[in-house]
Amino acid sequence: MPEDPLAPLVADYARYRADERIRLADYETADTDDLTRDEARSELASLVERIADLQARLYAEESRAVLVVLQGIDAAGKDSTVKHVFSGTNPQGVRVYTFKEPTPEEAAHDFLWRYHQDAPALGMIHVFNRSHYEDVLVVRVKELVEEERWRSRYDSINDFERVLARERCVVVKFFLHISKDAQLERFRERLEREDKHYKFSANDVRERRNWDAYQQAYEDAVNATSTPWAPWYIVPSDHKWYRNLGVARIVCATLEAMGPRWPQPDEDLEAYALDALEENVSSKR
Ligand code: AMP
Ligand code: MG
Repeated sequence: MPEDPLAPLVADYARYRADERIRLADYETADTDDLTRDEARSELASLVERIADLQARLYAEESRAVLVVLQGIDAAGKDSTVKHVFSGTNPQGVRVYTFKEPTPEEAAHDFLWRYHQDAPALGMIHVFNRSHYEDVLVVRVKELVEEERWRSRYDSINDFERVLARERCVVVKFFLHISKDAQLERFRERLEREDKHYKFSANDVRERRNWDAYQQAYEDAVNATSTPWAPWYIVPSDHKWYRNLGVARIVCATLEAMGPRWPQPDEDLEAYALDALEENVSSKR
């Protein structure tokens, strides 16, 4: 892999530690790295352009894929992150998958079945808005399966992501980290603003009672599944603009490190004398 030119940008977010357990409570949710909102916005705008260019090359190259996993508690901003970070990309090469409660058919299969079907083909970027991690998060908190089974899923997830990585899919995972107060503020906003009503869910408010259990589940999941082949990044997300910037920086750096290139043509392009062809056509008119 070529040296990653954006390494300094992601250094602050890279939370992969093989040797040491992380505690979510040690990570600031309101961090802004001393940036102003305007500075962040203008950096984001250039990252969005850069991501679009890299995505076009990745698509043309058709030899690697990228899976972006977005996780975070209700109202952490998963939907909005998709909108801001991928706004420059070509929809032909990027797909977003949202995962809800499994259907009866999905529930009748192993937990990874539905996610594997939506894994990206070569050349594609797929974004999972919620993901296979729900099966060690909501499933654990709501006790939908017994502990022995959800615990065994950490290994299954690591194996699954390793399969993807070996088969040329780069996996990058984000935990959008917000405070309990920020969540309340966003629920309030959903109640008060007409354009946000549709996002309000009484179920989310009920789930808020399980805040601590979710934090614990996230902390354990991040520790058990942050691997060299599929790292987690913890992104401070109380400030939406800083969250968008953080995810965009890491997505951009991930793509830069892959270094996708325009493919070389198979044939000698000089052999196609288009000018001569044109003349030929017009002389026949
Ligand atoms: P939303 O993302 O707000 O549309 O809500 C989707 C809901 O589906 C959330 O309440 C999730 O907890 C739930 N969900 C997603 N994946 C699973 C899963 N594997 N098992 C159970 N519930 C899930
Ligand atoms: Mg929701």
